[in-house]
Amino acid sequence: MGRSASEEGVCRFLNPSKEDERAVVEAVRKELLIAGRWRPATDGRQLPVHDPSTGEVLCHVADAGPADAVAALDAAAAAQPGWAACPPRERSDILRRAFEQLIARADELALLMTLEMGKPLAESKAEIVYAAEFLRWFSEEAVRIDGRYAVAPNGQGRLMVMKQPVGPCLLITPWNFPMAMGTRKIGPAIAAGCTMVVKPARETPLSMLALAEILSDSGLPAGVLNVITTSTAGDATAPLITDPRLRKMSFTGSTEVGRTLIAQSAHQVLRVSMELGGNAPFIVFDDADLDAAVEGAMIAKMRNIGEACTAANRFLVAESVAADFAQRLAVRMSALKVGRGTEPGVQVGPLITAKARDSMRAFVADATERGGRVLAGGNAPEDRGYYYQPTVIADVDPGARVFTDEIFGPIAPIASFTNEQEALAIANSTQYGLAAYVYTSDMRRCFRVVEALEFGMVGLNQGIVSNPAAPFGGMKQSGVGREGGREGVEEYLETKYIAANV
Ligand code: NAP
Repeated sequence: MGRSASEEGVCRFLNPSKEDERAVVEAVRKELLIAGRWRPATDGRQLPVHDPSTGEVLCHVADAGPADAVAALDAAAAAQPGWAACPPRERSDILRRAFEQLIARADELALLMTLEMGKPLAESKAEIVYAAEFLRWFSEEAVRIDGRYAVAPNGQGRLMVMKQPVGPCLLITPWNFPMAMGTRKIGPAIAAGCTMVVKPARETPLSMLALAEILSDSGLPAGVLNVITTSTAGDATAPLITDPRLRKMSFTGSTEVGRTLIAQSAHQVLRVSMELGGNAPFIVFDDADLDAAVEGAMIAKMRNIGEACTAANRFLVAESVAADFAQRLAVRMSALKVGRGTEPGVQVGPLITAKARDSMRAFVADATERGGRVLAGGNAPEDRGYYYQPTVIADVDPGARVFTDEIFGPIAPIASFTNEQEALAIANSTQYGLAAYVYTSDMRRCFRVVEALEFGMVGLNQGIVSNPAAPFGGMKQSGVGREGGREGVEEYLETKYIAANV
């Protein structure tokens, strides 16, 4: 058994035994959840789930094909009228119970997440709490969905507006936040009275399967939430996207796949919410508190091993403080402990796949060929597992791939600027518009810069933007729609206006 929570203050499974690991994996249902029943894939296929710290197979889960996906939509469509009629307070109570379950079982769920995804246990546990908070937030929103009543401007008649559930939804989630990206969609769908088919990423199906069981145990009626795990995402989901019973698709993942799904959704003018890729600038002005900027940079860059859509991707630092900032960041990054996420003290786990690790090598090679100087890291330290050292590169050419592409890993590239206009021009020169970070102590500059940034979220003198009570989402090719906050539930509601001749 691992050390106790009181000893480590984080997760009771820190430094778990093999038995602990096996027990949390074995406890998860590995089948498809369709119409309230757990069942294997129609053709009996299974898909392996790997531990990215070793590359070893952890277990197998059902591998759904198109027929299973259609069965899941059949169940969602059949459950929709009854679920829409369920009193909001009951929907709210189910979410509240699931929130409490997630918190009560945070330690085992954190270990499960670390095993399939790789992030350090403390971060996994923080994600479970973050994920649970979406359920709590939307349990509170479920009973506050309302409409409008107005006298028409000319006094002739009355205008009434009501909100109704959109209907059956397809929810597709990525591997980097296996639980929170699920609750951020499932929470508002339940609150609004929508039924759903959920498809988690093939790399991390276990967290979603565990969540589905918790929601069922919390009283969610059969057919409201259906989960299909699959190795053939495109084939499995295609028939749903063109099925007229599906009314909405919510996707979190890469801009590339998002574009394909938007094109597919045109067929039946499906409502879509798209949370796509990012390329966040992290701007440090010469009047910034440099200690705070370095602290914020560590969070904005290294949360989730850099595998976050909101991760700082381009550090833009005023010329007069750039060398100092780079040096301080290099010292902090070099001190991070890299290793298996279950080990005590580890701050940086493995990347999700060998391909992801190899892409870090390619990013660094390209940046250094263009004149960048490696101040920390720059190597893949081990041949087992998909690790990459926390890396800092100074004097980066803004045309280098570390600046133009989404890195999704532990590399911090730095370039300098001479004035505010130049900083803003570089920051906005991207197809992405998800998150941006600004460090300055000048109040006027704060507002000038925040207003000029073409990003859906701005961290002002702080390195984290995520909050269940806030509208999370991007501009430009980072997406459409918002998740969380009051806006989150709107994505799952239709607006109906009644022109009343009274
Ligand atoms: P991805 O390759 O786009 O996959 C995301 C999800 O889409 C997975 O479940 C994947 O299934 C599925 N998928 C892939 N191709 C599909 C298709 N043709 N039809 C239907 N589903 C398909 O992205 P990822 O590598 O997992 O995640 C990283 C990306 O997500 C990054 O770009 C990151 O910025 C973005 N992200 C954005 C946010 C946000 O809120 N804006 C949050 C987190 C992550 P498989 O696993 O089976 O391929």
